[in-house]
Amino acid sequence: MHPPTHQQIARLSDTLRRTVRAGEVVTTGPDYDAGRNIWNGAVSTRPGIIVRCADPSDARAAVLAAQENGVPLTVRGGGHDWAGRSLSDGGLTIDLSGTRQVTVDPVAEVAEVSGGATAADVAAAAQLFGLTVAAGSAGAVGMTGLTLGGGYGPLSGRFGLALDNLVSAEVVLADGSVVTADSEREPDLFWALRGGGGNFGVVTSVRVRLHRVPTLLSGLVLFPWEQADTVLAGLSNVLLESPDELTVQSGVLAGPDGKPVVFLSPTWSGDDTAAGERALARLDSLGTPLVSQIAPTSTPEMLAGIDAQFPFGRHVKIRPRSVPSLTSGVRDTLILAGSTLTSPLSAVSMHSLHGAAARVPVTDTAFGNRTPHLMIEIIAQWDPNDTSRAAEHRAWADKVAGALESDALPGGYPNLLGPDEVAQIAHAYGPNTERLLAVKRRFDPDHVFRAIPLPDPS
Ligand SMILES: Cc1cc2nc3c(=O)[nH]c(=O)nc-3n(C[C@H](O)[C@H](O)[C@H](O)COP(=O)(O)OP(=O)(O)OC[C@H]3O[C@@H](n4cnc5c(N)ncnc54)[C@H](O)[C@@H]3O)c2cc1C
Repeated sequence: MHPPTHQQIARLSDTLRRTVRAGEVVTTGPDYDAGRNIWNGAVSTRPGIIVRCADPSDARAAVLAAQENGVPLTVRGGGHDWAGRSLSDGGLTIDLSGTRQVTVDPVAEVAEVSGGATAADVAAAAQLFGLTVAAGSAGAVGMTGLTLGGGYGPLSGRFGLALDNLVSAEVVLADGSVVTADSEREPDLFWALRGGGGNFGVVTSVRVRLHRVPTLLSGLVLFPWEQADTVLAGLSNVLLESPDELTVQSGVLAGPDGKPVVFLSPTWSGDDTAAGERALARLDSLGTPLVSQIAPTSTPEMLAGIDAQFPFGRHVKIRPRSVPSLTSGVRDTLILAGSTLTSPLSAVSMHSLHGAAARVPVTDTAFGNRTPHLMIEIIAQWDPNDTSRAAEHRAWADKVAGALESDALPGGYPNLLGPDEVAQIAHAYGPNTERLLAVKRRFDPDHVFRAIPLPDPS
């Protein structure tokens, strides 16, 4: 698709200045830069125009004006998609990042969340009522973007993926109509939104289920590289057989002295704290930890800890692979990954899908893989000043993803699949592919919305 012409942008701008009431229409300046700057500093995409929405009517006006003027549109939530799919060169960005209201109903244990609110916004609001939310591991990620594509997180074993906690969504469709999707109203759309990403409309707000968890135990355990194979082999038995209350994120990264280490980041969310302490002690005994820091915590605190490790502006490439377990082939690749890290900021991180997340029948939502598995993120990350070695860092991620291919399940986590991973995209929605594409044809036949990748209908 050709980027829009200056005349198209000028006409679009005129229309928007008449129809966007509460928000702002920007083409330059600090507000434009704020809408354009996203988490991955390597993305240099420059939209032609950004609508900084203040309420859902701004999003609706923008959807209609973009189509009237033949300008492609994208939707920006928390700006954490590493591939930068919230922006398009020369296009219109509907920026929801200024709409961050969260209202908690403590009796129903549900939060009403504006489309641009972050996971940290929801966790902070829930915490005021002694409640928590099944989000991902980082707080600055958009709650809606995370939820629409999946949402693996520290509470997935107990409460399912973030999308399993979606109660309803308010959506501006391509024709400008505003609908509420839930299990009763627009059930097909509601089904597709739970895994199919932002491909169906602008989700201006969601209602998400909250949970009461009296104590969370979480922290970090680091093992020396010499023990990597033993620890990973032991971990294999623990991960997918864990009780629902224990979810462990794990992987390899560069330790404080630059040498690789195996990390475990377990979270116990059960009511029985003593059982949690026993389960966590079992993880320590997989080797001789260099560091073992487990303590009572809260969801906001956990999210803030990860945000500090993943600030905005670094350059990033991510490749996802999912594997059924830590077989010796997978362990060999993890060891290869750690031994050949090209950047001290790169890492391999594994989220386990088990427990409540694995008990949801696969066709109940559009999310394509409910078999217990490890979702592996191969994260090449480097300092913006290190551009001369960017190709080397990207090649490391590709090499590790390639080495995992023979052990991996077909497909991969859509929220992290890059647009070029055509073979993985073809399998990413498993048995839900046909229905998902049919819902796309019904609600967005002209492909106005392009978000996380959908398989090619042919
Ligand atoms: C540091 C970091 C940590 C992460 N941790 C986890 C994790 O623990 N678990 C996990 O599962 N994933 C994780 N992710 C992946 C993350 O969930 C996805 O990248 C997600 O799409 C980000 O959503 P966003 O709104 O922040 O990003 P954006 O870039 O703003 O949006 C991502 C996509 O969703 C669409 N979108 C966003 N909001 C809306 C909306 N309201 N309506 C319609 N479309 C919308 C956008 O158009 C875009 O296509 C992480 C990513 C990063 C960078």
